[in-house]
Amino acid sequence: MCGIVGYVGENKAKEKIIDGLKRLEYRGYDSAGIALPIDGKIQIRKHVGEIKNLEKIISEPDFDSSLGIGHTRWATHGAPSDVNSHPHANEDNSIAIVHNGIIENYQEIKEWLVKEYGIKFKSETDSEVIAHLIGIYYDGNLLEAVNKAVEQMKGAYAVCAIAAAEPDKIVAVRKDAPLVAGI
Ligand code: GLU
Repeated sequence: MCGIVGYVGENKAKEKIIDGLKRLEYRGYDSAGIALPIDGKIQIRKHVGEIKNLEKIISEPDFDSSLGIGHTRWATHGAPSDVNSHPHANEDNSIAIVHNGIIENYQEIKEWLVKEYGIKFKSETDSEVIAHLIGIYYDGNLLEAVNKAVEQMKGAYAVCAIAAAEPDKIVAVRKDAPLVAGI
């Protein structure tokens, strides 16, 4: 079982996210990653292995934001590797997601995305389809795009999604998987 953490607030998102991921370490994981919207772009850092490997590649002060999403992965589809680690993004990096669970019909969605939109996938995961689905439906409103994407998704999931164009918002959705929102 993996862990996902999202933070939006007045503090440094990367510190809050790392703290949250460490609290979820007991669940087990094979890799960890984080995505932050910085100056209109989503930046992703991820690494196979322990959270301390991730901490090493996110230490520079410029890599920070007051919003972000993070993930510890327990691979179900695709080997533990840097590229299969979460977060995953769509092709132009305007959308990023973290996902806990399994998208049962990912192969079908993947084939459709390749055929209809010519999308090039980077990873072997089931989760990457979520980022591309949200990407094709995104028209300036992340909540609407996520709602359209989940209509096509079968399986169990907790997902956090962010959009570069809406750097003050995290959309979270779950089905048959736990997700807690706190204020
Ligand atoms: N099925 C996804 C993957 O293999 C998510 C696994 C998880 O819940 O950590 O990347």
